[in-house]
Amino acid sequence: MDAAESERLAGFRERWARLFPQRQNMRFDNNVVQNPYCPQCRFCCGPQEEATPFPMALLDSQVSPRTPEDFYLLDRHTACLDQRGCKALGPCGCRLDNTLRPIACNLFPYVLVNGRLYLYRVCPASMFMDKDDLLALGKAVHAYLASLPERDRARISIERAKEDLAEKYLDLHLSPLCADRARAAV
Ligand code: SF4
Ligand code: SF4
Repeated sequence: MDAAESERLAGFRERWARLFPQRQNMRFDNNVVQNPYCPQCRFCCGPQEEATPFPMALLDSQVSPRTPEDFYLLDRHTACLDQRGCKALGPCGCRLDNTLRPIACNLFPYVLVNGRLYLYRVCPASMFMDKDDLLALGKAVHAYLASLPERDRARISIERAKEDLAEKYLDLHLSPLCADRARAAV
């Protein structure tokens, strides 16, 4: 996406270019990012490299007795993705209906980090889609997140260290969505 792309990102770009010779566009329908690369990619649902689990907050309406069957959990309200992958990943992709998936999954590769909206740069859609189209989609995602209760936004927002942010996440420079977290991360 830019001249300063790291060796690791460049490796992903080559890998995705081989896997996806046809370029495709994401859409945002019914508050869900429809990413045509996902069914074949599944990079962010399978086993992760990082030892630290990736937290995926659940809304109150998404927590039920079936939740421990669907997810590895960090706590009652927080599913996680780790070196085992996601428990909800089945042989044909995610087993869950959009209403049960963490909001983070429905919005990926857009990610609320430290109270601001970022684009996960490793995703093939982030690498191959037109920049203006990515920003337009990001604005729609931002408007959706802004419509959620502040408490839910604060729960959804993950924390990332500056170095990790700089390499893997692109700041969309949209207004902060969790003012306290955005201030704390400066
Ligand atoms: S990296 Fe992108 S395309 Fe791949 S599974 Fe994640 S969101 Fe889908
Ligand atoms: S809930 Fe579904 S979309 Fe989200 S990480 Fe798990 S398998 Fe992937």
